[in-house]
Amino acid sequence: MSVNYAAGLSPYADKGVCGLPEVFDGPEELKAKVETVAQLIKESQYMVVHSGAGISTAAGIPDFRGPKGVWTLEEKGESPHFETTFEDARPSLTHLALLGLQRAGYLKYLISQNVDGLHVRSGFPRDMLSELHGNMFVEECEKCGRQYVREKVIGVMGLKPTGRYCEVVRSRGLRACRGKLISTILDWEDPLPDRDLNKAEDASRRADLALTLGTSLQIKPSGDLPLLTKRKGGKLVIVNLQPTKHVRLIPAPPADAYT
Ligand SMILES: [Zn+2]
Repeated sequence: MSVNYAAGLSPYADKGVCGLPEVFDGPEELKAKVETVAQLIKESQYMVVHSGAGISTAAGIPDFRGPKGVWTLEEKGESPHFETTFEDARPSLTHLALLGLQRAGYLKYLISQNVDGLHVRSGFPRDMLSELHGNMFVEECEKCGRQYVREKVIGVMGLKPTGRYCEVVRSRGLRACRGKLISTILDWEDPLPDRDLNKAEDASRRADLALTLGTSLQIKPSGDLPLLTKRKGGKLVIVNLQPTKHVRLIPAPPADAYT
């Protein structure tokens, strides 16, 4: 199946700001910033990471609002370029670094807007992960809520039936649940999954460090979750090639910050 899952969504007018130029730091500045973030991570008690499509471009999956993003090109009447399929895509270094941070005890909770399933496929524990916009590889029973993680993409979007049925056998009966399985991928107007959103909000309130990676923070409510951390006195670090919606909240570093 094509990775262009966006083509399976309803038309939607307001896709936010698209196509802003990307800004790259020079090697020295990058090194200094990486050291600063590493120090903040070391000092944190409860770090939450928020990931967006920007962390999967290295895996060959286009983002949405970057210079070559799905929505940026759509505005120009062009189609995005896909270098892979969802099944063939492999977790990027960023996905593996997040797994490493989780295993080392630094990353306490991961909140993703990505539907490519790469966090789960990297081995990241699902009970420490909220996938707020769904997962191309996951279908859910509308009756009992059981989720099934598949090897292949589900192929249906917008919380619609996948044509398969739940196989859970209840403890006291011999009959399977047989509830309809539905796609977990949200369409524009669909509500976010309660369970994932509640856990994401709890973790964001508890966090003393929110690190956002590869997201323009424009989609609500996902993009506003890092602000819960900031409101509780926690720190917010934004890592993105384009300016993000909340960048004005970040005070400029003092002149001697990197010396
Ligand atoms: Zn079921």
